[in-house]
Amino acid sequence: MQKIYLDYNATSPLRPKAREAFMNALEEFGNPSSIHSFGRSIKNKILQAKEKIADLLNISPNRIIFTSGATESNNTALLSVPGAKIFISPLEHVSVTEVVPFPSFLKIDPSGLVDLVSLENDLSSAFPRKMVSVSLAHNETGIIQDLESIIYISKKYHAFVHTDAAQALARIPLSPEILESHLVTLSAHKIGGPMGLGLLVLPENQFFTPLINGGGQQKGMRAGSENYPAIMAFAQALEDAMDELKMQQWDSISILRDDLEKQILKISPGSIIVGKNIDRLPNTSCFSMPGVDSMNQVVAFDLAGIAVSAGSSCSSGTVKLSQGLKAMGLPEEHLKSILRVSLGVATTKDETNKFIEVWSRIYNNNLNEKEFL
Ligand code: PMP
Repeated sequence: MQKIYLDYNATSPLRPKAREAFMNALEEFGNPSSIHSFGRSIKNKILQAKEKIADLLNISPNRIIFTSGATESNNTALLSVPGAKIFISPLEHVSVTEVVPFPSFLKIDPSGLVDLVSLENDLSSAFPRKMVSVSLAHNETGIIQDLESIIYISKKYHAFVHTDAAQALARIPLSPEILESHLVTLSAHKIGGPMGLGLLVLPENQFFTPLINGGGQQKGMRAGSENYPAIMAFAQALEDAMDELKMQQWDSISILRDDLEKQILKISPGSIIVGKNIDRLPNTSCFSMPGVDSMNQVVAFDLAGIAVSAGSSCSSGTVKLSQGLKAMGLPEEHLKSILRVSLGVATTKDETNKFIEVWSRIYNNNLNEKEFL
């Protein structure tokens, strides 16, 4: 059976050139902290990769530290200003919501956007240190926040700003204003780099408390020997992903996504398409199939060879209802039946047509599991 992958927000396949960079790096060894020629050679290559990444992002290389992924970057960011009152949106990834014991949740409007008037009210209260953490694009729905305004208001009240841009990287442009957040989280495997590598963009020349301490690597800002092969692969993946963005390859994907949503509404007019009329990532769609539980849908699609995700956080085979979608006021019956489809640049019309065909059969309770086995 030809398998169809429509879960690019979970992870994206490793790009061929990134794989090649990774494999080439495995041929060489040396600890980048060693003074001898083996170490110096690796260190130079890491520095070059860092400069390439900085160049592609249009920031100073001094602001970049490599981490083990967006989860570590988010944890590091949120714990980097000890004693700060932390304000987060309800649409944050669990690696933000689970870091500090009692974060203050910002108000969002029914479309999922942070309410800027409430943000201003929250920040005007007298907390000596405060941090605002809002992701640029929501991983379940693709909803894009008005981050420029959030940054402007946060800075006005002297709050540190962190944004998790893991899902947005190379799918939409990251404006200079966004990169002037004090802290920005990125992840390699969402753009076709390897798993286990992330980036945290740090504030320039400002106070920063590291999370991981030890051997003083990365100028003491993140201890531990650098993941050399993954760094080389990430630099290559970013170059390729940015080329796709520049060549506007996502434009045709958003047309495919919009068409898929149109067909879904034709088949099941009671479905809710979350964030349909607001700015979203070009590849992401999140919708409900009234009356059919999310997990049952994922399993049925899987049997048909189609990989999709149950919108809400799903680990160890259990699905928790999405707190973010709940905060947007999505009714319980839709929350329970939500599905996330996320396309890649290589996704074809044939693949989305096949998705629609299977969707229709699941919805009409017309799925014969045996034919897929
Ligand atoms: N933030 C967001 C918005 C994500 O979508 C993810 C991955 N689901 C993460 C953080 C965690 O990324 P990583 O796997 O690199 O730790």
